[in-house]
Amino acid sequence: MNVRLRGIGMTSPRTRERMVNRLQELGIRHERVLDAMLNVPRHIFVEEAFASRAYEDMALPIGFGQTISQPYTVARMTELLVEAGPLRRVLEVGTGSGYQTAVLARLVGTVYSVERIQALQERAIRSLADLKLGNVRLKHGDGSLGWRECGPFDGVIVTAAPIRLPDALLDQLNPGGVLVAPVGAGREQMLQRIVRTDSGFAAQSVEPAVFVPLLPGTA
Ligand code: SAH
Repeated sequence: MNVRLRGIGMTSPRTRERMVNRLQELGIRHERVLDAMLNVPRHIFVEEAFASRAYEDMALPIGFGQTISQPYTVARMTELLVEAGPLRRVLEVGTGSGYQTAVLARLVGTVYSVERIQALQERAIRSLADLKLGNVRLKHGDGSLGWRECGPFDGVIVTAAPIRLPDALLDQLNPGGVLVAPVGAGREQMLQRIVRTDSGFAAQSVEPAVFVPLLPGTA
């Protein structure tokens, strides 16, 4: 691991514990989510220049105009996804650094994650390989189309903001399944939690959010 190379101070378990204390202060309650946040090293998912800030509660650049989400946001979205019960198959749209993917992998059966920027996807493969997770599948592609061959899913998490939720993602959700996504343009985004019911979808607006936009196609 990179821990020793980068100096124990900035990446030590104690630094991560402080981050988790902060998440609790901000209202994260789910024990297994807090445990996952404590155990997944965030510094291996950020660029070397930012490793010393990896456990601060802020988004950081990961190149290509994209960001690794703020720890609070990762924890909150994960909590919203898993709070209703165990999930077997989860689709993530927007792998980015792979950090959210690693957190999910500790909590659900299998994570299927799609990223549209090939260079980021390749880097995420390497970062996730360091953690030796056996339950993650990654794909380069347009995640707004979902991942039909691997669905339907018990959970869908979207980590980039569509102006309107793509139908494909709703279609690939199992009955009783949960979708969590920021929806809206520019700074007018709202985190939504949507549950597929027997007759349709029940949506709940949770809190304002700031994400990069969900873009069509691949790069
Ligand atoms: N969960 C990531 C967040 C990365 S930012 C992390 O914590 O690191 C959002 C990511 O969504 C970016 O990497 C961006 O390239 C990706 N993205 C945007 N539109 C997409 C699409 N249509 N399909 C797949 N990925 C997309």
